[in-house]
Amino acid sequence: MVYLDYAANTPVDRQVLDLYYETTLKYFANPNSFHILGQEAKKIIDDCTKNIAKNLNVLKEEIIYTSGATEANNLAIKGICERYKNYGKHIILSSLEHNSIIASASVMQELGFEVDLLPISKEGLVEIDTLKKMLRPDTILVSICAVDSEIGLVQPIEEIAKLLKQYPHTYFHTDATQAIGKVKINYQDVDLITIAPHKFYGINGVGILIKKKDVSLKPLISGGKSTTVFRSGTPVTANVVATDKALSLAIQKQETRYKYVLKLNKQIINYISQYSKVHINNTSKSLPFTINFSIKGIKSIDFAKMLEEKNIYVSTKTSCCPLETPSKLIYALTQDKSLASTSIRVSLSHLTTENEIAEFLTAFDECYRKLETDGKI
Ligand code: PLP
Repeated sequence: MVYLDYAANTPVDRQVLDLYYETTLKYFANPNSFHILGQEAKKIIDDCTKNIAKNLNVLKEEIIYTSGATEANNLAIKGICERYKNYGKHIILSSLEHNSIIASASVMQELGFEVDLLPISKEGLVEIDTLKKMLRPDTILVSICAVDSEIGLVQPIEEIAKLLKQYPHTYFHTDATQAIGKVKINYQDVDLITIAPHKFYGINGVGILIKKKDVSLKPLISGGKSTTVFRSGTPVTANVVATDKALSLAIQKQETRYKYVLKLNKQIINYISQYSKVHINNTSKSLPFTINFSIKGIKSIDFAKMLEEKNIYVSTKTSCCPLETPSKLIYALTQDKSLASTSIRVSLSHLTTENEIAEFLTAFDECYRKLETDGKI
């Protein structure tokens, strides 16, 4: 079995899982209980949250735990719009956003907000000058992913944040779900940041929205006290401990992992580029972790299924989109419907071995030759 879908989900790190398991057994009391058992759990949450905050260069009070990146994105978009609608009802999103951003903005659109999509350059980057032209006095929110989920393009987040600091009523959110553990981040001037540990070898079912201290938002989930008033529910001690561990490991090992994956990436790109019907959708601004290619004339799902028959697991686009529809992200980048409906995402990890790459390339060759023999390409 060769798993090449790490952008969709990463397997949990053994050390993270062990800590999660031990914490669940030992610190089962409600961290909001007044008694000593509750207070012990609360202290663990506080200590780990401090460490998470230090690693992300933010304040402990700025961390809001959620159930994942989808919830964090919903909270950022809907929470800001509801809180600041008196300042204006205009939102700008990049054309590379995850469905959880687009769907949240659509809900706001139904409530009377206007949503504009920021186009990207040929290299796949949002352009500051274009953004400047699109900003209006009633723009209250700009949301641009730090790294997208299909092409792995790294956007100039710090530069955009600096620009938006000049607009006091325009809040800036970045979805950094695909960035952690892959690029160094320094988001001092960003107002809201989404992350999710299941993309960096943490556990599933947790996410974080960082909301800077001078920013407010309307909570989505009402209820009693939690670690913050912005998201109710009993704090989950083990989730916080496991997230802290996964984040520390991801940051410590980022550079070594990057270098290793870059080597694997080059091997794959060099090999598959030799096939005449292959088009590489990545640009020079893509991270090495995500390889996106199209085989002209062959629907994404058909090629992915051929690979699956050989025990190679890739994906066609971000996992939460309907299988048969073209990729919106590839279309935004290439403006080519045929490339958008034939794109395949191969996502790599430090866990990917040289042998797995060799297996993938052999399977790729066999599938490609079969398509030729069958007269499909
Ligand atoms: N944002 C991005 C960029 C993603 O890649 C994903 C997951 O694929 C999400 C948000 C949603 O994450 P979650 O499954 O934690 O809700």
